[in-house]
Amino acid sequence: QCSFYCPVGAITENSSVKEVNDLLHDKKQKVVVFQTAPATRVAISEEFGFEPGTISTGRLVTALKRLGADYVFDTNFTADLTIMEEGSELLDRIKNNGVLPMFTSCCPAWINLVEQSYPELIPNLSSARSPQGMLSSLIKRYWAKKKQIHEKNVVVISVMPCTAKKDEAKRKQLTLDDGSQETDYVLTTRELGKLIKLNSISFASLPETPHDNPLGESTGAAVIFANTGGVMEAALRTAYELGTGKPLPTLDFQPVRGFTAIKEADIDFNGIQLKVAVVHGAVNIHEYIKKMKAGLFKHHFVEFMVCKGGCIGGGGEPKSISDDYLLKRMQGVYKIDNILGVRKSHENPSVQALYKDFLQKPLSHTSHKLLHTHYEDRKKKNEKK
Ligand code: SF4
Repeated sequence: QCSFYCPVGAITENSSVKEVNDLLHDKKQKVVVFQTAPATRVAISEEFGFEPGTISTGRLVTALKRLGADYVFDTNFTADLTIMEEGSELLDRIKNNGVLPMFTSCCPAWINLVEQSYPELIPNLSSARSPQGMLSSLIKRYWAKKKQIHEKNVVVISVMPCTAKKDEAKRKQLTLDDGSQETDYVLTTRELGKLIKLNSISFASLPETPHDNPLGESTGAAVIFANTGGVMEAALRTAYELGTGKPLPTLDFQPVRGFTAIKEADIDFNGIQLKVAVVHGAVNIHEYIKKMKAGLFKHHFVEFMVCKGGCIGGGGEPKSISDDYLLKRMQGVYKIDNILGVRKSHENPSVQALYKDFLQKPLSHTSHKLLHTHYEDRKKKNEKK
């Protein structure tokens, strides 16, 4: 259903397999850096005959290295960073009577929908870039400088569950000063499966390799971005603790989990009842907005994901033949969250170090420059054409 707002769409996938394959076989002095989205480490398994929900994080990194990646960073790292920035933005809006409800901004199909159909809601969108947008920016504008590599010699390839991320990578707000894309190529999980097969890599028997650092360390809060409700749960784990000084009574925040179309929850935030909602699937999003405009919903913070189940059900994920594949992928993702030692974004040591050494603090001038974005009214623009 996300094809509606995926201009390159779930209908016809605009494949980058050949271009990326050619590049990896002739890198021409380029430094090739991959990033892997939360949902891909589970779904890629199905491309190679594993049961849905099988965790393949380490095999995925090894496969990318065998394909020719010089570095493999983790989009989960910037999922943690998204929580720091978006969570701080939410607290700031609540404290300073900012525009509420605040809407999450990491689903580019949702952003397209707002810009094209509901531009009056643009002020409600968090200005935080998606984790893909944040990581590509950091790779080219921060990491490359530290490594003394010219940004023009770095090629960033992201592996995403999503066809809409290909469109996001082309947004002019996410380009370098010379107009080149910060994310050079986006491969869907399915396309990566094809690329691995094309190069005769036996995925099932690969050993495990960890992501590279410093942009590769992540927490349980980051991986659950893959599931509907995950961004909300991760944000609450951090915003609640930073806002109240106390940890959430339970890290597994059940009211925002599962496949219910519109999930709602109230959290006591030092005497203020914080009202949140989670919406997934395009039809449900239209329904939510209709009811919100009619005054039937009054939330402070809302997560929107255009695909059913969130990114685990993205248009670029394998076409599974199992009936309950979404549930199994969702369970696989929660399993990773449970086995990781650190499950809150603000406790990610690499995120803490990045703030200390470079960004200073969430919503700082540097954070705004590298990690935030702006949106445009494309409805008005389209009407003028
Ligand atoms: Fe892409 Fe995830 Fe949004 Fe689907 S829900 S369009 S996979 S970001």
